[in-house]
Amino acid sequence: MPNRDCRVGFMWNTAFDSFDYGDRHPLRPGRFRMIRDYLDSAGLLASANVVEIEAEPLSMAVLERVHSSEYVESVRRISQTGEGEIDIDTPGFRGIYENALMLSGATVTGVRAVLSGHVEHFLSPTGGFHHAKFERGGGFCVFNDIAAAVHELKQHGLNRILVADFDVHHGNGDQAYFYDDPEVMVISFHEDPEWMYPHEGYVNEIGSGRGVGYNINMPFPMDAGDSVYRYAFDELVPKLIDLFRPQFILFLPGFDAHYLDRLAHLKLTTTMTRYITGRIHNAAHKWSEGRLGVVTGGGYHPDSLCWGVASVMSVLSGREYSPPRQNPPFKDDEETWRTVHETVDQVKDSVFPVLGI
Ligand SMILES: [Zn+2]
Ligand SMILES: [Zn+2]
Repeated sequence: MPNRDCRVGFMWNTAFDSFDYGDRHPLRPGRFRMIRDYLDSAGLLASANVVEIEAEPLSMAVLERVHSSEYVESVRRISQTGEGEIDIDTPGFRGIYENALMLSGATVTGVRAVLSGHVEHFLSPTGGFHHAKFERGGGFCVFNDIAAAVHELKQHGLNRILVADFDVHHGNGDQAYFYDDPEVMVISFHEDPEWMYPHEGYVNEIGSGRGVGYNINMPFPMDAGDSVYRYAFDELVPKLIDLFRPQFILFLPGFDAHYLDRLAHLKLTTTMTRYITGRIHNAAHKWSEGRLGVVTGGGYHPDSLCWGVASVMSVLSGREYSPPRQNPPFKDDEETWRTVHETVDQVKDSVFPVLGI
C-alpha cells in the first residue's frame, strides 16, 4: 500500500475537442472535456501531486508499427473529405486522422512521462481503443493506443507488460496483437461475447505458441453485479499478477460495465470501479515501481462515466471523492452466481496449469 501521495499526470490537449462522431453517436462530442470539467469541479485536478501533461500525437514511427499502411491511408482519405466510415459503427469526419493520432498519442505520451520518472501514474480522459486491429479499426476505435503503448514500452526494454482490461466489451484488438506474445499478459473481463460485441473473448481463447496462458478472458452473464464481479476478480487477478510480476500496467477500468450504461447489460456500481482500481494501483506499487497508466475506454452514461473517472483519480492521487449513492436494479441471483462460479473454474482450469499456478 503506498503510504504517500503519488504523482499523477492528467493527459490533455485542446485538440481532443475536435473529436466528432456526431451528436447521435454514443461516444459523444465533448466527452473528454466533460470528464476534465467534472474532475476539476470535484477538486481532483487542483492537488499539488496532480500535474497536467500535454499530449502529443502518435509518431509516424509508432503508427507504422501498429497499423498497416493501407489502413492508415484509408483513414487519411476519410479525414481529408469527411466522407466514408472506419466501419459500420465508427463514422468518419473531417480531421479524424489528426484527431485519432492525438487521442492515441496521449497514451504514449503518458507512458513516456511515467518511464522518465516525471510521474508514477497517468490518467487519460481518452484512450483504450482496444477494438482496433493491425489492418482495420472498428468499435469506435481508430488507432490502437494500447498496442502503441506496448510498442513504446518494449522499445525501452520492458518485457513484462500487463494489460488489465475491465471494459465491458472484450478487447479483441489487444488480444489479436499479443495472442502469441508471452511478454504481454492480457486480462479481459467483459460481458459474454455470445451476444455482446465484438463476439470474441471466450474462455478457451488463451493465447497461442509461446503466448499460451497469457491471454485470459473472463466473460460475465447479463445482469452480473458487484458481488459476482468481485468474486471473479479476487479468484483470478491477484494470482495472475503475482505470477507475471508486471513491470508496467496499462489499465482500462470498465466504466461501461456500470448499471446505468445502456450499451451493455452488466450491473456494476462505482464501488466496484474503486475496488478494482485500488487493487490494480497496489499491484503497480508492489511489482511495477508504481508504473501504471489508466486509459478511459468506454462509458456511455455521462454520470457513471464521470463518477468512475473521478473515483480512479481519487485512488491514484489520494484525494477524497465520493460518488452519489447508487442503487442497481438487481442483486446477483442464484443463476448468476452459478454461471460465474462455473466460468471462473473454467478460466482457472484452462490457464492456471499452463502458467504453473
Ligand atoms: Zn500510487
Ligand atoms: Zn466498451
